[in-house]
Order: sequence, then structure tokens, then C-alpha cells
Amino acid sequence: MTTRRSVDAVLFDWGGTLTPWHSLDLVAQWYPYAQVYDPVHAAGLAQRLFDAEESIWRRQRESGGAEGTGNLARVFEIAGVDVGSWQHAEAMSAYLEAWDPHTYTDPDVVPLLEALRADGIKVGVLSNTMWPREHHEAVFARDGVLHLIDGAVYTSETAAGKPHAAAFRAAMTAVGVDDPARVVFVGDRPWDDVHGAQLVGMRAILVPHSEIPEHQQVPVDVVPDAVVQRLGEVLDVVRRWNSGD
Ligand SMILES: [Mg+2]
Repeated sequence: MTTRRSVDAVLFDWGGTLTPWHSLDLVAQWYPYAQVYDPVHAAGLAQRLFDAEESIWRRQRESGGAEGTGNLARVFEIAGVDVGSWQHAEAMSAYLEAWDPHTYTDPDVVPLLEALRADGIKVGVLSNTMWPREHHEAVFARDGVLHLIDGAVYTSETAAGKPHAAAFRAAMTAVGVDDPARVVFVGDRPWDDVHGAQLVGMRAILVPHSEIPEHQQVPVDVVPDAVVQRLGEVLDVVRRWNSGD
């Protein structure tokens, strides 16, 4: 029996999905930066940077993603950092180094993306992130994944963020597909990922292993189209849908 393929593209969230969730002290994540930029006032600066970041995430949540994540430049502006200074350039290296251990790609990703592409399915990324594209691409290149991604949308470059429809549509455009009913979204957040994807008419697969902090959770009554315990299982789900089940 021949059935028309029903999935043209699979789009992935990044944090907690392509890269496994790590519970982190997000103020402490700013210390290495702050210690280089202003060693005398490092603790206060780390707190200010965290507060700036949080204020942006809060607006993203309260606006339903209509106000996106902005980018790190916005965080530095709010925190009063001089991004033209040599201290900032050196501090950025310390910041990225501190994040490095928490960005490793799930080992299921390379075989999964290779198999999806071998099935003729486009692979994309849609991440709510303040990081510039080059940081994400460096991480993907380090882990041998970059060449397996057909298109990626990082909300540091867009006006809207998940769960806003504009973010999901931009991700479809990035991989060159136009029918959301033929797109599957894979993510770890019920509101940003599952609810957002289903709102535009995509199917959504939940990876339910992230310990999302209480204050970041937006209550939502949502039922994912599938739940996988590990990322590799996405292939079975997509193949099942493509076989007409
Ligand atoms: Mg995530």
C-alpha cells in the first residue's frame, strides 16, 4: 500500500530538547562574566545581568511571545554594561566557557537527524534564545550537527518568540515548507512548544524530562500528539504518522 507522506518537516526546540536539560543557578552562570568585566562588583553585576535577562523573559511570557526574547545586547544595555569595552570582549569568552558544559547535543540527535533526512524530511530548529546565531552554530558544529540542519530560527533575530505563531511560521519558512499540518514540532515546554505548535496547526511531540522552574511555567491545558521518553523515538513516531497510522 502506498500512502502519501504526511510529514514534510520536523522542527526542534534547542534547550531541554536537542540539548538535555540542566538545572542551573542562572545568577551563578553570570559570575564568570562579571568577574572579568568588574571583579570588584562581580556579585552585584551578576545579579543585575540575571535580573535584566529575567525581565525580558517575563515580558516574553506575559505577551504570549509577541514580545520576543530580544538578544544579549539588550541584556547588557539594561544592566548598564559597556559592550564596546575590552573588558566586555574578554568577559564574553568567560561567559561562553561557563555555558559550554551545558550545551552538549543529545547523543540521539545525529542518528535521528540523519534518518529523518534520509526519509526526505526537512530538519529545522526554533529556539527561544538571546544568544546570537553564531553561538548556536558553533555549538552545533562542535557536536557534528550543523550540516544536518536545513534551517534555524533563533529569536535573538526575530521580533516574536514562541509560542507566538509568527515564530513558528518563520521556522517553516526557514526550512522551505508551507503547510503546518505537515510539520511536526518537538520540544520540552508544554506552553512555548506544544501549545504554540498546535496553535498554528502543527503536530507536537513532547520530551518531558526538563525540570522547568516554577516561575517559568505558564499554565496551559494541552495534550501533545505524542510523548517520547528519548529523542531517538521521534523517528518511530514520524514514520508511524507517515505510514498513515
Ligand atoms: Mg526548551
